[in-house]
Amino acid sequence: MSNHVQKTTHFVVAVDGPAASGKGTLAKAIARHFHLPYLDTGALYRGTGVAVLREGGDPSDPDMAAKAASKLDTAILDDPALRSAEAGTAASKVAAIPQVRAALLKFQKDFAERPPGAVLDGRDIGTVICPDAPAKLFVTASIEERARRRYLELNRDGTGPELATILADLRERDLRDSTRADAPLVKAPDADLLDTTELSIEAAIAAAIDLISRKHRLGAG
Ligand code: C5P
Repeated sequence: MSNHVQKTTHFVVAVDGPAASGKGTLAKAIARHFHLPYLDTGALYRGTGVAVLREGGDPSDPDMAAKAASKLDTAILDDPALRSAEAGTAASKVAAIPQVRAALLKFQKDFAERPPGAVLDGRDIGTVICPDAPAKLFVTASIEERARRRYLELNRDGTGPELATILADLRERDLRDSTRADAPLVKAPDADLLDTTELSIEAAIAAAIDLISRKHRLGAG
């Protein structure tokens, strides 16, 4: 059977999970496999947080953050500064502000609704952005493994933060993301759980594609 999503079939894959769980790598691989466009929704929050920081503001300030979100220039989404630990922390602060989430909602929904569908990764894709997505994956891994992965990613040139700092930052981010009132990080009841703690990247991708393929076959009848 071809992996190509037929033009008449609208197929949306929602990939959620905590920071550094591997969801971005998996979502990109799923998008390639099913020939679907991919949206890293975390970049929208990172871009908003970085825009506030660049204006000398506080990412927890609702007015500044909401303004930055409503006039977000999508050109910032490819800025390497978005990948820093500071951008991640700023993102999780602006993401707790309901007006910010509201300002970014339409862009994400429109992306998912365009034919032939899409793969989106984030925290609330399966619960808020695409609650009717036929395929949902909740990707997780132990916090120690996630910290180790983020450490390797941020220390390619040896100038990134220490492991203990990254671990503390992830704990703080997990807590903020999963306890906020608006669209907290939570597994959708109909999402498949994929724990990548013990899996290589290749094994995790194979497992994810296997789970999504079952949903794709069901959707295709
Ligand atoms: O996935 P990433 O680590 O880039 O996300 C950065 C932050 O953006 C997260 O910690 C979370 O607070 C926020 N986020 C969100 N909802 C999404 C995607 C990201 O609240 N759909």
